[in-house]
Amino acid sequence: MVDASIGGKNGIDVGVYKNLVGTIRQPEFLLYDYSLLKSLPKEEWVNGFAEIIKHAAIKDAALFKELEKSKLSLYQKDKAALAKLIRRNVAIKSAVVEKDEFEHGERRLLNFGHTLGHAIENLYELSHGQAISIGMVAACMISEEMGPFKETDRVIATLKKYGLPTLAEFDTKEVMAVLRMDKKKVKDSMNYVLLNKIGKGVVKLIPINELDKLLQSIITAR
Ligand SMILES: [Zn+2]
Repeated sequence: MVDASIGGKNGIDVGVYKNLVGTIRQPEFLLYDYSLLKSLPKEEWVNGFAEIIKHAAIKDAALFKELEKSKLSLYQKDKAALAKLIRRNVAIKSAVVEKDEFEHGERRLLNFGHTLGHAIENLYELSHGQAISIGMVAACMISEEMGPFKETDRVIATLKKYGLPTLAEFDTKEVMAVLRMDKKKVKDSMNYVLLNKIGKGVVKLIPINELDKLLQSIITAR
């Protein structure tokens, strides 16, 4: 409801490579039936909140503050708050997609946490939310390393609050091999989504060998 229904992307995985083949085609309209959410197990709510936290981190500092104050069980109980939250997220993603349907600029921001996230999701059989949660933490740490971001702790605390993991052991060589196949790669560099501050995502081109070093230093920092 807050993510894949918006934007028109229809992709399939090829082996461990996520969404390598697909089309972009916009729907005529979107219909949300909130009662469907009652049928979801808690893990799927948590997966959805990973994308909600992502939207707040890249685009909406006020939403991030609301998420820090609230919690999952409150949204599960309060239909009005949930409907408002979903509408707000639909508005964030729609605005980004309307500006840049085919991902030449602004839409890249939606990949926050997804570069490393996609690499570890299939390798380690994580759920999508778990994988991008770990990816967002790594992207925050790289953002601190490259400056001027200083709020990794807030992002980690919020992800934890919504039941998402923030640390993982992974083999950098294996992960880098998958990253080299990523469709966001441009020659020997990668378009990586970082944060300048909470609510302000930016795309930076990072050379693959530098990214290799950054990931190594993040893993040893753990
Ligand atoms: Zn995602």
